[in-house]
Amino acid sequence: MKIVSTEFVIGAVRHEQLPEDGLPEIALAGRSNVGKSSLINRMIERKNLARTSSQPGKTQQLNFYRVNGSMYFVDFPGYGYAKVSKAQRAKWGRFIESYIRERKQLKLQLLIVDLRHPPTEDDRLMYDWLRHFGIPTCVVATKADKVPRTRRERHLRVVRETLGMTPDVPLVMFSSETGEGREELWNIVRQAIAG
Ligand code: GDP
Repeated sequence: MKIVSTEFVIGAVRHEQLPEDGLPEIALAGRSNVGKSSLINRMIERKNLARTSSQPGKTQQLNFYRVNGSMYFVDFPGYGYAKVSKAQRAKWGRFIESYIRERKQLKLQLLIVDLRHPPTEDDRLMYDWLRHFGIPTCVVATKADKVPRTRRERHLRVVRETLGMTPDVPLVMFSSETGEGREELWNIVRQAIAG
């Protein structure tokens, strides 16, 4: 995928702030520190546009990155971070929940997990919830460079089994460090946008 332009458009905290240009959106969810910002940066070939967070859980907004003037990556706040208050979490939960359920432009939800470890309970809840509402989903197992090649298949199987993934849901092995999986993921993104 050739990237000609990228821009951070808005960190939305309310519905009224969501972009109104109607471009297709690809959203990313995952626990704090799983590697979402690094994945976006690798996809769009920018070192630091999606800030690589030194303070996990601090990104309390839906961050919209416009790519080639034709689509958005939408980064969700990482879940599973204890220091966000319960009230704040509930409020955010509602905003994100309604975004996912109602947003016509949302073409694909990426669920980012860590290839090194079995998905967490939060990952499972997120996966089940997306399936329940029939949201087109792709699971991305990142930090693949941290897993020796000979063990990767086994780790992928653990991801599939722990989430209870059905065969129709794609699973991409990815590394923001090496760029492995980038073209495969772009193909899935392009297909989702083409509908
Ligand atoms: P976020 O909180 O989900 O946005 O996570 P970040 O993108 O900030 O990444 C969290 C940490 O994991 C950072 O120290 C990254 O450098 C590291 N990281 C992210 N992706 C990878 C990867 O694919 N491979 C390796 N080795 N480290 C990664």
